[in-house]
Amino acid sequence: MPASVFIGLGSNLSSPIQQVLQAINEIAGLANTKLNASSSLYETAPMGPQDQPNYINAVVHIHTSQQPLALLKSLQKIEQLHSRTRNTDHWGARTLDLDILHVEGCSSNTTELTLPHPGLHCRSFVLYPLHEISPHLDIPNLGSIEQLIVQLNEPKPTIISGKNLEKPPSVC
Ligand code: ATP
Ligand code: CA
Ligand code: CA
Repeated sequence: MPASVFIGLGSNLSSPIQQVLQAINEIAGLANTKLNASSSLYETAPMGPQDQPNYINAVVHIHTSQQPLALLKSLQKIEQLHSRTRNTDHWGARTLDLDILHVEGCSSNTTELTLPHPGLHCRSFVLYPLHEISPHLDIPNLGSIEQLIVQLNEPKPTIISGKNLEKPPSVC
């Protein structure tokens, strides 16, 4: 049976809105995968080094028959298609970052794949879009997304574009 999976997307280089929208289409086109929902696009301040542009973030929900490690490889291929380079700066600027946030019914504790994603509970740019598309999601050992947002106590990031994205937004 396909697994229910949440993926976080982020970009702050080379037309970030287009990078994220295109990546959502590419995720939807993965083998044995169906896109269930995608959040609005959010604009957020960078984590880590502050001398980089703001990020565009979103979260998508898919159903996929790909095993988590195979899915990670598929997502890394998409990052490479977007010319993602890995610099020495942790959390430095990037054209595209795809993180597996949560695979329902699955946990993993390896460096290659940690599930749920270790930053899920403390990142507003993950929790708010996750809540938008799955308000009742409850993550074992972490709690409900609603509780996590209350605990985080950070303002909701700015939404720059709603779910109906037929027209590309003119900002950024
Ligand atoms: P962060 O993981 O804190 O958001 P990052 O996204 O900038 O940081 P990357 O350089 O993109 O980090 O990824 C580093 C490694 O993280 C990857 O090589 C990948 O194997 C590993 N990794 C572990 N768990 C996950 C996960 N849940 N989703 C994506 N990558 C993961
Ligand atoms: Ca990340
Ligand atoms: Ca990543």
